[in-house]
Amino acid sequence: MKKEIKEEVVPCEICGHPVIHNEYGLYQDCQQCGWRRGWDNTELERQWGVSYPMLVSLSHAREQYRQGLPFKADFDEFVRGLFFYSEMLFDYEQTTYEVFLKGDKETDIIVFCCAEFLQEYASEQEFREKANIQGKRLKDIWDQVQDPRYM
Ligand SMILES: [Zn+2]
Repeated sequence: MKKEIKEEVVPCEICGHPVIHNEYGLYQDCQQCGWRRGWDNTELERQWGVSYPMLVSLSHAREQYRQGLPFKADFDEFVRGLFFYSEMLFDYEQTTYEVFLKGDKETDIIVFCCAEFLQEYASEQEFREKANIQGKRLKDIWDQVQDPRYM
């Protein structure tokens, strides 16, 4: 016996365009603004300051949409995403870089790596201040970083 999947139409969290939400909790990608909704992003922003799977927080994404900008997480959201999800990626000048947490909760080390190098940082603050690509600090070149995302 074939079961129909129950669906309802709800407004996109960002632009209000109707998107389909089914009984398994899945949301259709928004045809209007491209927003993808995985979880309760209001709650995720409250707890972690991020969204899933888009990473950029809901309120920041709404601001970007109003300004006609593409969705992109800022450096703070990327770092918060790291502690929420543990493994992150971004692209910079045609290269993909990875940032991940190594170790247990008490002694997390932040590893920043690509095919060319591996950097390790003992704290979030150290990572924020010192993580670099060929001497250029990550936080200073964030405008040129593309597609910061969950792994
Ligand atoms: Zn939308």
